Amino acid sequence: KKRVFSGIQPTGKIHIGNYVGALSLWVENQKKYDNIFCIVDLHSLTIPENIDPKYLRKKVKEIAALYLACGIDPQESTIFVQSHVPQHAELTWLLNCVTPMGWLQRMTQFKDKSKKSDSVSTALFDYPVLMASDILLYQTDLVPVGEDQKQHIEITRDIAQRFNHLYGDTFKIPKELIKKSGARIMGFDDPENKMSKSTGEIKARHSIGLLDSKADIKNTIMKATTDSNREFRFDHASAGVKNMLVLYENLSGKSRSKIEAHFAGSNYGQLKRELVELTIENLEPIQKEYQRIIKEDSYLDDILEKGQKKASQIAAKTLAEVKKNMGLN
Ligand code: ATP
Ligand code: MG
Repeated sequence: KKRVFSGIQPTGKIHIGNYVGALSLWVENQKKYDNIFCIVDLHSLTIPENIDPKYLRKKVKEIAALYLACGIDPQESTIFVQSHVPQHAELTWLLNCVTPMGWLQRMTQFKDKSKKSDSVSTALFDYPVLMASDILLYQTDLVPVGEDQKQHIEITRDIAQRFNHLYGDTFKIPKELIKKSGARIMGFDDPENKMSKSTGEIKARHSIGLLDSKADIKNTIMKATTDSNREFRFDHASAGVKNMLVLYENLSGKSRSKIEAHFAGSNYGQLKRELVELTIENLEPIQKEYQRIIKEDSYLDDILEKGQKKASQIAAKTLAEVKKNMGLN
C-alpha cells in the first residue's frame, strides 16, 4: 500500500474548508492507503501570538477527537502528535543545512502570514522545512492537502531531491493529492481570500467551524458576500457565489450540471437556505460523535500513545539512515 501522510495545526477554529479540502479526502481514501495523520503542534508554535500552553493542550485533544469524529478510524490510520516524536525537529535541522534561503523566501504562505503578524518568528520562515521533515520521515508517497499547501509539497520534493543528490538515495519523493473541487474554500466574509483557522478565530462570519452551532452556521451563510446578479453557473459566478456552489457540490455529492439546473432562475437566498440545511445535515453527526469522544480522555490518550509508538519506529529508522548518510554516526 502507498503511504499517506498529512496533518492539521491544533490552533484556531477548524473549519469546513479543512474538512472539505483535507479531512474528507483522508477519510475517503482511508482503506486504500497506509495512513499517518499528525496533529502538527510544532507548526502551531510558529505564530507566537496565539499560543498559550493550556490552550494548545486543549486544542490537541480537540483535533484528535475531530479526526475520529470525522471518520478517521484508528484501526486503519495512525494518529499522533508531532512533538511526541522528536525526530521531526531533529530532521528539520539537518534539512535546514541543505535548503537554500532563497527557496524559502519564495513561499507565499510565509509572505501572507508574516504580513499579518507583528513579530515574525524564525520558525515561521522555516515552516516549510519542518513540513518537509514531517513528510520525508515517513517515506511518504502521497500528501492529501488543500491547494494552499501545493507550494510546500513542491519545496519538499526539491529538498528531498537535493538531499538525495548530495548524500545518496535516502528519501522517497512525495506527491500532493489535491481535490479537483473544494481544495480552496474561500472566506464567507471575504471570498477573495481562503478560509483560514486563524482568521476564523478572530473574525465572526469568516468561516463555519466544524463545531459551530446551527444559529452560527445560519448567520454566517445568510450574510455571505454575493453580488447583484443571479448567476448560478460555476464558471461564471462571482467569487462568493462560486464558493457556495462549490461547498454545495462537495457536501451534496451532486454533479455541477444538476446543481446549475436546480438553481437556474432562482435567487441567492434560496442557495443560501439550502446550503445552511446541507451544512447542518453534514455537521450534525460529526458534532454528536465529537461530543461523545471528547469526554473519553483516556481513550484519546491511548490512541495518541499507540500512534506515537508506531510513528516513532518509522521516524527513527529514516533518521538513522539520514545521519549515517551525512556522516553523523
Ligand atoms: P491556519 O490559518 O492556522 O494556517 P488553515 O485553515 O490553513 O489555518 P492548516 O492547519 O494550516 O489550516 O491546514 C490544514 C489542512 O487544511 C491543509 O491540508 C490545508 O491545505 C487545508 N486547508 C486549509 N484551508 C483550506 C481551505 N480554505 N480550503 C481547503 N483546504 C484548506
Ligand atoms: Mg494553513
